[in-house]
Order: sequence, then structure tokens, then C-alpha cells
Amino acid sequence: MGTTGSISDHHGGFADTYAGARARWQRAVATRGGRLDGLRHPGTGPDGEALWLDLACFGDPQASSVFVVSCGTHGIEGFAGSAVQTAWLQAGGPGELPPGKAVVLVHAINPWGFAHRQRVTENNVDLNRNFIDFASMPPAHAGHAELHPHLMLERWDEAEIARAFAAMDAYRERAGEQAFSDAFNGGQYQSPEGLFYGGHEPEWSHRALAQCVPRALGPARRCVWVDLHTGIGPYGLPFFFNFDAPGSWGRQRALEVWGEEAFSGKGATHKAFAVYQGLMIDALPAMVPGCAMSPVVIEFGTHERRRMQRAHLALAWMRRQQSASDALERAAAEYREAFIPSDPAWRASVLREGVALCQRGRDALVAEAG
Ligand SMILES: [Zn+2]
Repeated sequence: MGTTGSISDHHGGFADTYAGARARWQRAVATRGGRLDGLRHPGTGPDGEALWLDLACFGDPQASSVFVVSCGTHGIEGFAGSAVQTAWLQAGGPGELPPGKAVVLVHAINPWGFAHRQRVTENNVDLNRNFIDFASMPPAHAGHAELHPHLMLERWDEAEIARAFAAMDAYRERAGEQAFSDAFNGGQYQSPEGLFYGGHEPEWSHRALAQCVPRALGPARRCVWVDLHTGIGPYGLPFFFNFDAPGSWGRQRALEVWGEEAFSGKGATHKAFAVYQGLMIDALPAMVPGCAMSPVVIEFGTHERRRMQRAHLALAWMRRQQSASDALERAAAEYREAFIPSDPAWRASVLREGVALCQRGRDALVAEAG
């Protein structure tokens, strides 16, 4: 029983807590000689632990071309991205990099959500809807005002959940798949307690990232960026999003590095994807002017969409509860399972696929001319 410490610390390579994940990640970064940077979040975790947005830089600080892997934009999903980064480092990580090339790992962009096991920030903000220009707010989606009251459950029980789904189904039948997705999860700026709330100002994580990224990328001219998520796509397998226009450098580079098949949409869990607003990856070009960006979101699929919608309903209800209850524990357990399945086969697949993707990005960086 001499190894119980490491066994209780992580299951299948996944840590049980944000602090445990961060400690393992920091040890792995040190082993590979990474240079650490970061900013401390003003809040704390559920056990009073300090919260940090951390970065680790490898290779040439003056690199003209950089490969970045980030995680934890959606807090709780960081358990997977952190495990992937750590496993990649343990397997060798960036290794020797030629002059002019660098790798940057960004750990826990939304550390509050990571530690508190929620997608959102301390202000119930979906950080991946927060990167908008708050001087010119997007217009409210017509469907939001209609759907929102039905999504604010009064109790976490099956009758109440069924009532919400009946309202969602009715709206979908009337307005169509696309309008439903836009209204449900495209992002909204009207209801601070609601689902997929984008906030009313840049969140701490938004501002911290905007401060750290220029420091880490320095004079870089080209950057391939992977932001790791969970919850969309085939179970335990990667699903890619790239929103660059066809013909742009970003799109072209994404196809070169990840392959055409990465963007085929195979295994999609959604009939229609929302037109997302305020994504983190959309804001990257403005953070490092002069650096061409090729950003992708890579999701690792967990469960079918209805089960994920239940989880989003659960969180909005959980955040409005003042005291502990059996229902709250049930909802929290279902929520965790939706984004970070405990199934060892899922975890093993995410680590295997994730480490291979990190390695592919790193190899493409090294092979790139110039
Ligand atoms: Zn996500």
C-alpha cells in the first residue's frame, strides 16, 4: 500500500481536484525544463486553495512560430485538458526544439470554474461567450426571452426537468433546429442567472489571458493554437472546430496540421451548431497583433446532446441553491459525469488521443519551414 498517495491523487491519469491537477502539471513542467508564468485569481477554491492561470514556455523565447495548447476555458473541462498536458509532458513533451520555435502550455484559463467543478466563471459567465466587444453588444436572440424562464428549474426532479424539455422541444419544433441552438446555447447577455450567459464586462480570466498571451508569444509571427474542451462529439474521441474563413492562412494551416478529416463533422452530437459569439479563440488575433493565428477548439465527446442539456439545466439550478441537499448532490454528480466521465475507458481514450494530438502539433511546428 506504499503508493496510496498517488492512487488517491488521480484516477486513470485524471486528478480529483484542481490543486492536485495543478501540482502534477507543475511537476511535469519542471521535469521538462519549462519556464513558468501566470497570474493569480483573486478568489479561492472550495477548500480555500489559491487559483492561478498558469503558463509554461518551452524553446526559443524569441520564436517566430509557436504551438499552444490551452485548457480550462470551461473550468471543469480542464480536468481532461490538464491530464492531457501532463501526460504529454510525462511522455516527453515538446522535447528538443529548433531555434525560432516554441511550445506554450496554458493551464486553467478559468481556474475558478476548474476548482469549483463548473463550466462557468465565478460570475456564472460562460467564458467562451465573454470575448465580445462590450461597447457594441450583440442583439438579443429572439428565442432567449421565450426559452429562459422555462430553463430556470424550481426543483431538481424528473417532472420539473421534463417540463423544461417539453418547452425546449416545442420551441425547436416551431422555430427549427438552428434557431433553437442559437437561442439555447449561442450565448446571451440578458439573464445573469441563465444558461450560456456571456457576462456584462470582460471576466478576470479574459483579462488575465489578454495579459499573459502577449508575454508568452513575444515576437511570434505564426501560431497554431489548440483549446481543449469536453462535451461535444464522439465518446472519448476528438471533435474539431475551426471558424477561420476558407482560404485564410488560419484555415489552411489548420488543414495542414490536423488534416481534412478533422473538419468533416463526423460524429457530431448536434443537428445544428449554434452561431457562437464571444469565443476565446476569436479574440486571439487581437491579443498578438502581427501574429497570424490558426486556432482550433478540440472537444472530446462525452454523452449525447440531451444528457448534456440536462447538465446545463442542472448547473443553473445548482448555482441558485443556498443550502446542501440530496438533490444538490445528485445534480452535482450528474453534472461532473457529463463533462468528465469517470469511465476508465473514456479517460484512457482522451489521454491517448490528446497526447497524440499534442505530438502532432509539435511535429508540425518543427517541420514547418522558416
Ligand atoms: Zn467547453
